[in-house]
Amino acid sequence: MAVALASTDRLASLAGRRPTLATLCSHSSLQIFHGARTEGFATLGLCIGAPPRFYDAFPLARPDRFLSVPTAKDLPSVAERLRSDGAIIVPHGSFVEYVGADRFAEIDVPVFGNRAVLAWESDRRKERDWLDIAGVPMPKRYEEPSEIDGPVIVKYYGAKGGKGFFLAKNREALADFRPTGPYVIQEYVLGTRYYMHFFYSPLSDRGYRVGHGSLELLGMDRRDEANIDELYKLGAQEELLKAGIRPTFVVTGNVPVVLRESLLPKAFDVAARIVESSIDLFGGMVGPFCVEGIMTEDLEFKVFEISTRIVAGTNLFISGSPYSDLVAPALSTGRRIAQEIHRGETEGRLAEILS
Ligand code: AMP
Repeated sequence: MAVALASTDRLASLAGRRPTLATLCSHSSLQIFHGARTEGFATLGLCIGAPPRFYDAFPLARPDRFLSVPTAKDLPSVAERLRSDGAIIVPHGSFVEYVGADRFAEIDVPVFGNRAVLAWESDRRKERDWLDIAGVPMPKRYEEPSEIDGPVIVKYYGAKGGKGFFLAKNREALADFRPTGPYVIQEYVLGTRYYMHFFYSPLSDRGYRVGHGSLELLGMDRRDEANIDELYKLGAQEELLKAGIRPTFVVTGNVPVVLRESLLPKAFDVAARIVESSIDLFGGMVGPFCVEGIMTEDLEFKVFEISTRIVAGTNLFISGSPYSDLVAPALSTGRRIAQEIHRGETEGRLAEILS
């Protein structure tokens, strides 16, 4: 059964016109604009201050127009202007982070996807509840340092880009731990990281059926994280600490990966559970999301995070990935978003994919 996410009021600005796809000039905006243009949409780049010059270097991804605001916090104030342009906002990770999840949820402009997801994703405890309900394996969580029985990662809430996370080899290594804010202690999972780019279409009635729509796998990457990824070159942890070097997990880039084919059923199973429970909990996620986890040597996949919108790792696959090539030619996630909006328009079902 179709779920309407957007009210008729919310969609009034789109009545009888071709929408313009708008996003913040950052993160995965080149891909979003390129995909929108490929599917025949007009594009609008929202920018903080002057339009970034680097767009001039990428003519196929340059938005048709720019709209500048002094700071990201001012974006909600141009809502009326966006509505009068018939804009649909396509969110990405930086967009939501810069504006703030609460303010973003209130923007009075049609947004691609279900904004109810923000409340579940932006709070690590709620996200964990969601994954628990979905029955997805996750790293063990320790309530008290005394329970620790192996290596752990300590995560401060809101630690940007993993800065402020730290690792401890065992309970003893945390003996002097004096927290400086709210935090969680998680099992440090040893294995290989995979960031899987899925797309859930509530409009589709073919393919890998989940909920009332279908699930696609469009790509996969691994993040390059400074400085943890290269620390091994400097030797053992204690020696590093003595030298004042603490590991950080600041994302600096992405590399493409593929998963052993025999592990794909596991990947789809986890993603399908996450979608199904999102439908029960808040009417369902729509569009791109990323399942981020670690495959252990026992081939167990433990999910440490989900991102419920386009992730920057998809930028690797503007002209397709080893997975999206098997869905359709030259299919980026940005282009897939534009296709979904196009389908919503032509079938009169925008209320199911916008909020
Ligand atoms: P997060 O902010 O949760 O996405 O984590 C940032 C980075 O920390 C990830 O990309 C991983 O490299 C690492 N990480 C997070 N949680 C774990 C975990 N439980 N075990 C091992 N590595 C982790």
